[in-house]
Order: sequence, then structure tokens, then C-alpha cells
Amino acid sequence: MATTEIAYLQGELEHRRERLVDATRQNAGDASLRQLLSSVDSALARLKTGTFGMCEQCHESIEADRLLCDPLVRFCLDHLSTEEQRALEKDLALAAGIQRALLPVPNWSVDGWQARYHYQPASLVSGDYCDLIESKGGFLFLLGDVAGKGVAASMLMSHLHATFRTLAQQHLPLQQMMDHANRLFCESTTAGQFATLIVGCASPEGRVEYVSAGHLPLFHLSASGVPLGMFANTEFHVCQLQLVPGDKLLMYTDGLTEMFNHKGDEFGVRGVQALARRHAAAPPDVVLDACLEQVRNFAASSKQSDDLTLLVLHRAN
Ligand SMILES: [Zn+2]
Repeated sequence: MATTEIAYLQGELEHRRERLVDATRQNAGDASLRQLLSSVDSALARLKTGTFGMCEQCHESIEADRLLCDPLVRFCLDHLSTEEQRALEKDLALAAGIQRALLPVPNWSVDGWQARYHYQPASLVSGDYCDLIESKGGFLFLLGDVAGKGVAASMLMSHLHATFRTLAQQHLPLQQMMDHANRLFCESTTAGQFATLIVGCASPEGRVEYVSAGHLPLFHLSASGVPLGMFANTEFHVCQLQLVPGDKLLMYTDGLTEMFNHKGDEFGVRGVQALARRHAAAPPDVVLDACLEQVRNFAASSKQSDDLTLLVLHRAN
């Protein structure tokens, strides 16, 4: 940690100590105040002896950003106390709850369309993005995958969610909406951060338009493009489809294609295609269940390593 940062923290700690001494004088019976004062004292003592910022377990440096937030931390992320671990888990559980609240309702339907989806983070939070937005003369469907996983990816996922929720209000043509989203995403991410995405709109008459930004093929159709956020001046190609009653669209993230069996074989897009062909005439719930069963059977021996999202759109009548 830089000398200026150490000096800043020392000043902060001394200032805190003064206020704590005052507070303990006025509330002599408050044990938590006395405990806090002793933590501040021991941090000041560590500054004096030169052991400040060193993990008490492994003696490696504690992450500087954590120290700046809380100069009382005594362990690196790998060696948190049970109490700190619990606080971190609580934060993550809260974040997971917020993320779940961003998802569409489970049995979504509108204007002769039904949607079913499955959203399964590899850990507590996911970098996958799934949304359905009612729009003038139909609805928008969105399925994406932010590069990476965990907390950082989930933050970008919620950023995508907010971006498209806002853009959807403007009723722009698909291509223009993608251009705007791409620019906004480029401007607010750092190099190496990007998302693959399918954005489409469906009409009550079964007309579907969609754009793929480098995402895996939508079932039965090949789509390729550039991931969102890679280049600020990318053109996205619009694909068109006409669905008749009973038709379905299957979309998925790489948690499905990039799973491996015990022999090291990848499930791949071919696996998804075969699966979709087998269940082409089945109701959307059955298609989802079949995919999930395949996931359980195929990757039976290995732990889920990537976020998984499946989305089935069904033209009901
Ligand atoms: Zn440590």
C-alpha cells in the first residue's frame, strides 16, 4: 500500500479514536463501543509496528481496496473470519435476490405467445441475462451472456437489463436499438468486457425479427455477429422468421453447449440441435424439462461450471 494511503488511513483511525473515546465516556456501559475502540487501537498499533495491512493468517498483503473501505480488516479475502464470511455471504444473497427480481414472471404469456425459461447461476449470482418486455404491437425477447461470471458479470447483466428496459420505451427499429445499446455498453465497460446477446421482437401474427450479437444460434437458424461492446461501430444484421401456431424458438447460453461429460466430450450446438429436433412438437415446458434432463445426464459427474439459461418461446395460436 502506498505511503500516502497509509498516512490517510492513520489520520482516519486517529480521528475515529478521538470520537470513540468521547462516545465511550458518555456511554460507559456500551460494550460494543469499547470493543470498537480496542479494534481501532490494535490497528494503530499495527501501523506502528509495520504489520498493518498484512493478513494475520497467511502474512500476505490484504487487498488495498478493502483496507481503504475498512482499515480494521485483519485478514485477506482467502482468510476471512467466520463473521466476515457470513457478512459477505449475506451481501451475495441480497444481490442474488435483486437479480432474481429482474427476471420475467415464470409463466409469461401475451397475445398468443407463451414463454418458459430456466435461469440457473453457477454460483449465487449470474452473468446471464433474460428478459421479456411487452412493446407496441408485440413483445421483445432478450437473452444474453456477459463474459465471465460472478459478481462483476452480474453487475453488467443488471446494466444490460436497465439499458434495454429504457430503450424499449422508445419503440425503435431493432437495428437502431442494438446500435444504441452497443454504444452505451461500450462506453460503460472496460476493455475485455463484452456480452453476447439475442434481441428479438415478436408480433401477435407470429412475425419474428431478431438480431444476434455474437450469440449462440437460435434453434434451427444460424446466427453470427459481433459480441455487444466489442466495437462501437458494429452493424447488426436483422433476421426474419414467420412462426405458425405450435412453432417454438429455443435460445440458450453456453452453460448448455459448453458442458462436458466424463469422457471430456462437449455437448455443443449439435447436441442442442438434436435435442430440439427430438422435442420439436412438444409443449414448451416439456422442451425445457428435456434440456434440463440432458444437462443432468450429460454432465452428471461434473459440477455446473457456467451460468445456464434456457428460453423457449411458443406461438400458441
Ligand atoms: Zn490470508
